Amino acid sequence: MTDTHTYACDISIVIPIYNEAENLPDLVARVDEAMAPSGFSFELICVDDGSRDDSARILRDLALRTPWLKPRWLMRNYGQTAALQAGFDAVEGRYTVTLDGDLQNDPLDIPELVRTLEARSDINMISGWRKDRQDAAINRKIPSLIANRIIARVTGVRLHDYGCALKAYRTELVRRIRLYGELHRFIPVLAFEAGARILEIPVRHHARTKGVSKYGIDRTFRVVLDLLLMKFMLRYLHRPLHFFGGAGLWMGVPGFLVCVYLTVLKLCGASIGGRPLLLLGIMLVLMGAQLVGLGLLGEILIRVYHEPEGRAQYRLRPPPEDA
Ligand code: UDP
Ligand code: MG
Repeated sequence: MTDTHTYACDISIVIPIYNEAENLPDLVARVDEAMAPSGFSFELICVDDGSRDDSARILRDLALRTPWLKPRWLMRNYGQTAALQAGFDAVEGRYTVTLDGDLQNDPLDIPELVRTLEARSDINMISGWRKDRQDAAINRKIPSLIANRIIARVTGVRLHDYGCALKAYRTELVRRIRLYGELHRFIPVLAFEAGARILEIPVRHHARTKGVSKYGIDRTFRVVLDLLLMKFMLRYLHRPLHFFGGAGLWMGVPGFLVCVYLTVLKLCGASIGGRPLLLLGIMLVLMGAQLVGLGLLGEILIRVYHEPEGRAQYRLRPPPEDA
């Protein structure tokens, strides 16, 4: 796909930073080592996510002597997703690469990923796969293995490793994705929803040597809820009435029939006041009407959603070329 936009450099590297003071100097040095010989022009956007340690100041000092380092500082700790989005909002390169600030990802992989993106015009995004992952098995690798299987199956976006922070994008794709909540884990799904074609490539992974992980096992539950959201967005984002209205009809129609039946009994002289069925009938009708109403409201919201900047529901692609 030809991208006629002019970019300030080849690669924008985006790294969210929360309490990584011990890693920052190494991180910047390693990015330099990896990028300098690659021939790509680049910028490094480090987003300080309201760190409580010295990260913010270290970042400022590093930027004074590093021309390609563009730091951003968030007001408070918003979380990794918002920090990533803050980075995305500042990218000026043709390609955008994200990684973690704790040196678990290896900057040496960056030129490789971008070269692959350059070579494969059919691909919009590459997701890293920590094939040889260096984390504890019990509380990290095993839960993540299960989560990856479930996410792949539920969303239909078949990747081995959703959680890998090392990813490379064509920047025009980054501009089409907006991250909310903790959805950075589901970026491939959001990208897929935005029409991207994704490639997964094994990347290096190292154990964390300095600083501590910011997450515990409790994230599992949040992931389940986010998964529900993703499934909904993939299937029903553009037709919420089918989701809510569907459930509404399944309740409302039987409820209505129950009420008709009871009305007939009543007209024939029977007493229906004490029957539990009456309660059930009324409840089903009410709930059904509520759900249909919710679906209609959703339809209005999706129109509002697509309104700003003329965001389209679809994306066109150029005609297929013969291989
Ligand atoms: N991070 C962040 N804000 C947060 C938590 C984490 O910007 O609230 C950053 C953190 O500094 C690191 C990346 O997100 O660069 C991934 O965090 P971490 O290494 O703790 O996660 P793990 O690798 O253990 O999943
Ligand atoms: Mg980490």
